[in-house]
Amino acid sequence: MFDASLKYGILGLARSGIAAAYKIKELGADAFLSDTQEAQQVPSAQDLRRDFPCEFGGHTDKLLDCDVWIVSPGIPLTVPIIQKGRAQGIRLISEIEFGYQIKAEDSKIIAVTGSNGKSTTASLIYHILTKLGKKCILAGNIGDAFCAFPIHKPGIEYIVLEISSFQLDLIKSFAPQVAILLNLTPDHLNRYPDFAAYCNSKMGIFRYQSSKDFAVLYQDSSEINKRDQSIKARKLYFSGIAKDTPAHIDGKFIHVGSEKLSVYDLKIKGRHNQLNAMAALLSIQALDLDMSQSMKAATGFKALPHRLEYVDSIHGVSFYNDSKATNCDSTKSALESFERPIHIILGGSDKGEDFSLLTDSLQKHAVKAYITGDTADLMREAWLGKVPLEFAGDLASSVRKAFSEAASGDNIVLSPACASFDHFKNFEHRGEVFKGIVREIKREKE
Ligand code: ADP
Repeated sequence: MFDASLKYGILGLARSGIAAAYKIKELGADAFLSDTQEAQQVPSAQDLRRDFPCEFGGHTDKLLDCDVWIVSPGIPLTVPIIQKGRAQGIRLISEIEFGYQIKAEDSKIIAVTGSNGKSTTASLIYHILTKLGKKCILAGNIGDAFCAFPIHKPGIEYIVLEISSFQLDLIKSFAPQVAILLNLTPDHLNRYPDFAAYCNSKMGIFRYQSSKDFAVLYQDSSEINKRDQSIKARKLYFSGIAKDTPAHIDGKFIHVGSEKLSVYDLKIKGRHNQLNAMAALLSIQALDLDMSQSMKAATGFKALPHRLEYVDSIHGVSFYNDSKATNCDSTKSALESFERPIHIILGGSDKGEDFSLLTDSLQKHAVKAYITGDTADLMREAWLGKVPLEFAGDLASSVRKAFSEAASGDNIVLSPACASFDHFKNFEHRGEVFKGIVREIKREKE
C-alpha cells in the first residue's frame, strides 16, 4: 500500500525513474530526483526541475533525507551510493516493485522474464488478450514504464510486464498471478559476480508468489530444473522434447491442454518462437481464458522489428536483421532458424560472454562468420581455425563483403551475440543502420 507520508528518492532519470516520480507526485507524496548525468544530457531535465527538487551530475547526501529509494535498473548495486543507502537503512526498491505496491487490486499481472524471448512473448500475450477483447496494458522493459499507466485506478484487467533481472534484484513483495521464465542462459555477466548469481536473480520472479499463483517454466532447461523446487506457485511446464508436459510440440503441432495449433500457422520464425508461443498460451491456460480463440489470435502475431526481421532480397540474397540478439543463445537460435547455412555478421560491445559457446552452431549452420565491433579480437580468438572467418572492418564493410560472397538463395543475417554500445546508441539504432546499408546496396544494384 502506498504511504504518502514517506519521502521518495529517485536514482536514475530514465524512462522508469521519471514515470515513478510523476506517479508519486500524482499520489500526493514528495520525490527527490538524482542522476549522475549532467542536466544537459537528460532530455527532460528542464521539465523535471520545474516539477521536482532535483540534482544532476552526481548522487549527493541530499538523498539520505529519503525513506525509500526507487533505483533505476541501469545502476549496478555495487556502486558506493547504494552501499551508503543500505547502511543508512533506506528501503531500496525497483520501479516494478513500486508499481506493484500501488496498482489496483483487481488488475492481474502476467510477468515475463528469461534470458531471451521476453519482448516477443510479452507482446504475443498482449496481442492475444487484446484480440480476446480484454482491457490490458503491455509495460516494463518494453514500450512505456509500468508506472506510466493509470495502474493505481481500477479497470485494467491484465497487466503484461516484461521484466529484466535488474528489476528483479530490488523486489520486496512483487507477486504476479502468472510468472513466466522462458530460459536461463548466460547474459549480463559484466553486472553479476557469476552465472549462478544471474540465475538466482531471474528466479526472483517466483519468490513472493503463493500457491494461488502460476509459474510457467521451460522444462528442457537444466538450469531451471536445478532451481524450481523452491517455487510455491502451481507449475506449468512447456517443452520442445517431452510429450507429457501441459504444453509440448508433437510433430508439427503445438499442444496446449486439449487444443493444438499447427506451427506452420505461426508467423514468427524458428523453434525458439514455438517455445515462446507455448509459454504465452500456457499463461492463457493459467488465466482460464478461451484457448481455441487464443490460438487463433496467436497466428496473427508478427515478429517484432530487430528480431529475425526480414529486410529485403537483392539478386536472390535475403537479408535478416536480428540486431536484438545480444547474447550467444539468441544468436544460436538465429543460426538454427534457417534451412540453409547462413552468412552471419557478429560482434559488438562485450558483456563478458564465452564466445566458444557458439562454435558448434557456427560450424553446423554458417557458411562464414563476418566479425566486427569491439569483440572482434575475442571472437577471432574463440573461432580461428574452427569456423570460416572474415574481419572486414565496420558493419557496412562486413555486409558488403558478405553480399559479394553470397549466391542467389543465400541468407545474410545480422545476429551480433553482443550489445550494441560500441558503435551505436542501442540495438534499434544498429538494426536501422543495417537496414540502411541493405537499402544502399539495393539502390546500387538496380
Ligand atoms: P528479450 O526481450 O529477452 O531480449 P526478444 O524477444 O527481444 O527477447 O528477442 C531477443 C533475441 O533473442 C532475438 O534475436 C530473438 O530472435 C531471440 N530469441 C527470442 N526468443 C528466444 C528463445 N526462446 N530462445 C532463444 N532466443 C530467443
